[in-house]
Amino acid sequence: MSAENELIRFDGVTKRFGDRTVLDSLDLTVLPRRHVTLIGPSGSGKTTILRLLMTLLRPDEGTIRVGGAYLSHEERGGRLVPAGEKHLRAARRDIGMVFQHFHLFPHMSVERNLTEAPVHVLGLSPDEAAERARELLEMVGLGDRASAFPGHLSGGQQQRVAIARALAMRPRVLLLDEVTSALDPELVAGVLDLLRDIARSTDITLVCVTHEMGFARDISDCVMMFDEGRVIEYGPPERIFDAPERARTRAFLGAVL
Ligand code: ADP
Repeated sequence: MSAENELIRFDGVTKRFGDRTVLDSLDLTVLPRRHVTLIGPSGSGKTTILRLLMTLLRPDEGTIRVGGAYLSHEERGGRLVPAGEKHLRAARRDIGMVFQHFHLFPHMSVERNLTEAPVHVLGLSPDEAAERARELLEMVGLGDRASAFPGHLSGGQQQRVAIARALAMRPRVLLLDEVTSALDPELVAGVLDLLRDIARSTDITLVCVTHEMGFARDISDCVMMFDEGRVIEYGPPERIFDAPERARTRAFLGAVL
């Protein structure tokens, strides 16, 4: 597989916090339009990967590329140097993220939550941004809540707004970090159904961290099992869930399924 076909590529990425190595020389690739789910025990480094992709963290060693362009670094005078703020701002435009705890702007209406970044970052006109916001709110089933404030919505509705807000930036990659784990159990299925629809009906590339193994099985083309900052096995969900090769994967799945 040539590098041009890969949408995401980690080469030898190491991330340490103090003397703890959280990712250990990680190589990882994701092809365009694929839906990849990262599974593994708590603390194995899954969220760190999403935070690196979101440029909220930088690798200590190694490089990260999205669409062939360096995310973590930029080329200056023929040399690769750690990326500056301007480069990072441009690079992260391709990437949207939905967090466990929504992180909506509480003092803005639902519609403003969706129009703010498209207007200020992408330079859309307020009318264009509002039209896109309305379409997305329809898609997530909240067409009638555009003028509501986040605090007046249920957790499930807030998470739908957060998903719509991420999509409003038309990212190539959507990162989903445990997006249902803060929700009341009765609200989980609706959000997962919405994400299944998005996976089916759009070209977006998904990278998910989830403990919802049924969802991971449904939505994924590829499941990557992490342990101690390394991918210990990966493959289509049927293989990973029904015939895992590694004892560590069997033990993890035995504990969570
Ligand atoms: P996972 O998502 O697989 O549960 P994480 O990527 O969140 O794992 O975390 C991996 C390890 O890195 C954990 O031991 C966590 O405590 C540690 N860690 C994550 N972020 C930080 C941070 N900002 N400072 C120090 N340690 C961190």
